[in-house]
Amino acid sequence: MSAAREGLVAAPRLPGRAAAMLRGALPWLLLLGLALALPFTRNDYWAVIASRAAIYWVLVAGLNLVVGFGGQLAIGYVALLTLGAYTASVLVARTGLHPFLAFAAAGGVGAIAGVIVGLPALRLRTFYFAMTTLGFATIVTQVALAWQSVTGGGIGVAGPVMPAPFDTPWGFYLFCLFCAVASTWMTANVARSRFGRALIAIRDAEVAAEATGISKPVLLLSVFLLSGASAAVAGGLFATLQSYITPDAFTFDLSVLFFIAILIGGRGSILGPLLGTILLTVLPEFAAPLVAWSTFLYATLLLVIVLAMPGGIADLLDFRNRKPLDGDRAIVPRPALLVGMLDHVAARDRIALQGVVLSFGGVRAIDGLDLEIRPGQVHGLIGPNGSGKTTTLNVISGFNAAEAGAVTLGQSPLRSGAPQTRAHHGIARTFQTPRSIGEASVLQNVMIGGTITGRGSLLESLFCLPRHRADERRLTAQAMHALRIVGLESLAGVRADRLQHSELRFMEIARALMLHPAFLLLDEPAAGLSAEEISRLGELIVQISRCGTGVLLVEHHADLIFDICDHVTVLNLGKQLAAGTPAEIRAHEEVVSAYLGG
Ligand code: ADP
Ligand code: MG
Repeated sequence: MSAAREGLVAAPRLPGRAAAMLRGALPWLLLLGLALALPFTRNDYWAVIASRAAIYWVLVAGLNLVVGFGGQLAIGYVALLTLGAYTASVLVARTGLHPFLAFAAAGGVGAIAGVIVGLPALRLRTFYFAMTTLGFATIVTQVALAWQSVTGGGIGVAGPVMPAPFDTPWGFYLFCLFCAVASTWMTANVARSRFGRALIAIRDAEVAAEATGISKPVLLLSVFLLSGASAAVAGGLFATLQSYITPDAFTFDLSVLFFIAILIGGRGSILGPLLGTILLTVLPEFAAPLVAWSTFLYATLLLVIVLAMPGGIADLLDFRNRKPLDGDRAIVPRPALLVGMLDHVAARDRIALQGVVLSFGGVRAIDGLDLEIRPGQVHGLIGPNGSGKTTTLNVISGFNAAEAGAVTLGQSPLRSGAPQTRAHHGIARTFQTPRSIGEASVLQNVMIGGTITGRGSLLESLFCLPRHRADERRLTAQAMHALRIVGLESLAGVRADRLQHSELRFMEIARALMLHPAFLLLDEPAAGLSAEEISRLGELIVQISRCGTGVLLVEHHADLIFDICDHVTVLNLGKQLAAGTPAEIRAHEEVVSAYLGG
């Protein structure tokens, strides 16, 4: 009977998936159909406008990875458009290079410039970084103006002329459309890869990104490189469309347009910013008398969108996440499935803390602590609020550096201040306040945990090559498996910000499991859970340790600690008050009077 019912439930899945895929592809097919139908209007004026929209999109598609996915406020991207436009134009005009080669050269120059623009992002945040990109834009325009012998200064230079059959308005449009489709495909590939997920992790949960081993500098600079290249190619096309360029053509308004297109489209989306770009390019044409007001209109549009729909167009189109979720959902983990996930975690070395000292200003958060996490065992760390439990966990996971003492894994020291190295040592963790990416699905959040286990390079993801596809298949399957282990698989497709607090805690454990961790550090995983959920969590933690993983469990629930720990350390004011087996701790007079309240 139950098998038959399961069959009935499973049967509609396949058509359901096909329908979902079709629904996802529908807007793209519609847009492409529309774009291909445009030449039949035979109106050359529209050819120019449509070409401009396509060219802007080539730039915005790349910039979208930086702004919409990486969360970097790069507002001066007109600089790269300018650079690309001049590189291509000057090469064609002065050396007679073939326009296609000139575009490629512009892309190369843009890639280098993109990295230079992006470098400050590694140190500066938000508005400070935004100002540096503006500074770069000013410099490029001033150089174009001053370097008369090459750029023609204020008089300008002729743009590249396309060879047949791209020398007609519609011929050129089709060329631009091809570039736009290629940019869309490539950025969508990156967005759907482990690199795209790592970018949104850096944007929304940087600490969690570091704990999963994501290296922010390498990733951000690679994406700045890509976006610089695409922006400069767009510049070459832009110069061709204009047929003559002067520094005046590259106004700050243009930079604002690129940035706003992404904001009104919705960050972390590709379709949204594409629609945003089309809207902002086409709108002024319908409102020709309003051209003088265009800056005012952009500003108003931006205000309305930020206030009325902060998620942008993409959020409006996200029908799936409007469906109400089941009200009383119970989390039922399946520890038995751990075997398929952690079975190859061999018991190896221990993590040892010796005489660790750490103070914040005058407060000694940790004051000479010794502690050992052994493979296959659960080590409990308890103590009153502010006794230094989280700080201990931060020292092990590299977020805080110890002033004195040593943290070692086996014989080798664990480098302090380098949290992104811990994942490579097989050390995973969760956080006292769950760190999740609210706008991403639960499945994507969990897949982020396996970022460093991927094999394909960014270039392979860009072109959707076999290793990228294999990574995606494997990461998806493993994340689903991890979700089944913690009992959240039915919520895989749901946005993480719709989850309850307790579910986020289990989601973090699933994310940590993606590393196949040799060590797992849990910071108050039972906080906010019901009694039933706590006992299921306890069972899950025990089974994780049985697989060979060493667990450090920071907890307030004394019952849970005494039930499942092999060894317990009690902290008070950063000092060890007691250490031993649960039975010893329970009988420890000082602990009982000071902490357990017996
Ligand atoms: P627990 O997790 O046991 O509640 P913590 O490790 O979070 O305690 O904190 C230990 C002590 O260190 C507390 O007195 C806390 O105020 C202080 N502390 C923790 N982090 C910081 C920080 N980043 N800056 C200043 N003081 C801190
Ligand atoms: Mg704490």
